[in-house]
Amino acid sequence: MLSEKSKPLIEATAPVIVERLPEIAPKFYQSMFEAHPELLDGVFSRANQKSGAQPLTLAGSVIAFAQHLLTHPDSYPDELLSRVAHKHTSLGIVEPQYQIVHDHLLGAIAADLGDALTPEIGEAWDEVYWLMAEALLKLERGLYASQANDVIFAPFRLAERTETGGGTVVFTFEPADDTPMTPAIAGQYVSVKVRMSDGIEQPRQFTLIPGQEGTRRIAVKKDMDGEVTPVLHELPVGTELPISNPYGDVVLTDSEAPLVFLSAGIGVTPMVSFLDNLATEGSTREVRAIRVDPTDADAPLLSEQQEAVAKLSNGSLERWTTKSLEGDHTGRPDFAELNVSPDSHVYLCGRLGFMQDARSALVAAGVPGQNIRYEIFGPDLWMLHDDAARV
Ligand code: FAD
Repeated sequence: MLSEKSKPLIEATAPVIVERLPEIAPKFYQSMFEAHPELLDGVFSRANQKSGAQPLTLAGSVIAFAQHLLTHPDSYPDELLSRVAHKHTSLGIVEPQYQIVHDHLLGAIAADLGDALTPEIGEAWDEVYWLMAEALLKLERGLYASQANDVIFAPFRLAERTETGGGTVVFTFEPADDTPMTPAIAGQYVSVKVRMSDGIEQPRQFTLIPGQEGTRRIAVKKDMDGEVTPVLHELPVGTELPISNPYGDVVLTDSEAPLVFLSAGIGVTPMVSFLDNLATEGSTREVRAIRVDPTDADAPLLSEQQEAVAKLSNGSLERWTTKSLEGDHTGRPDFAELNVSPDSHVYLCGRLGFMQDARSALVAAGVPGQNIRYEIFGPDLWMLHDDAARV
């Protein structure tokens, strides 16, 4: 809990720091990477750093945490902390790195605010930072301890690669040593590290899709402007890559509520895992899978999803194609007209705008915000401003 002494200081300065964040965030990253260039080798994504999304998310999460402490003094923002802890553990973040982030983030805030940042205000933000760090470290220790091994990345060998729709390749990896594998829960992802031509390793997350036991299977869409996926797409069978244990908390809840899986493009990967999991369990739950793609040729894992839905006793698939007449519907869905029943549990995955539109329409249609879960394939700027998630 935030001390009474710090509370008014945080209250008074949070709005100023929020306003200055676009200036503070890049300076924080710049000084951190100047002092610790090793963090760009295998820990941080260079692209997210360059685009500005990651520093804003990291600095913004501390502010969001502070704002939560002010408005809900008796609790922590569990959803925010859990999401961050899962991402951290997939990258192998360790305790000393919290000190590094602290020094450079608080340093950047101090440099930006100048004399306005009195020692008392600095101490108050220190308190917020370490409250958040301790809460995250506790979660992260638990996550590391729950793995079947004590390594962060184990070597895996590319055993098979298959083209699927939408410029997407499905990769199947087999263990390249005898590290025990942690079983994945449907919806979880792994971090995969790929060495770039300049020798630096870059990590990226990919959702695990159903595969044979003892393998890791992912579907990777090539981002023409991206750093890692164009390299991944060229990897020959036999290549060895470091792959993390499975992490991620966007998983199925223990409930009999009807399910709606709404995805766009490559956002179908978690949905295919959920469907396969339900089919394997012989679930009788009502399941509606809805997918949006430009055309059938651009629809990743279409047949795999169709097969999984066909195995469900109470499942259906509705397809929307925006650039062809091949789907059940043409164009983009009007989310308000999907007639999603308010007792549904909804899972979203796709571009940010797609998910924001869907979520707003579903909340307006009576689906409680906490029953709508989403996976973002990048830094999660959305949740930092997503008050509806806590409604
Ligand atoms: P990056 O190098 O990361 O670039 C991404 C984008 O950033 C590019 O399009 C580019 O426009 C922009 N960019 C790059 N450099 C700059 C710059 N200097 N300035 C401005 N913009 C810039 N992907 C899948 O294909 N399948 C999955 O199942 C999947 N699951 C995911 C699960 C999770 C939990 C997360 C977080 C992500 C997932 N992703 C998935 C996304 C994946 O991790 C990568 O982000 C994605 O594949 C792009 O990687 P990349 O290295 O090719 O592109």
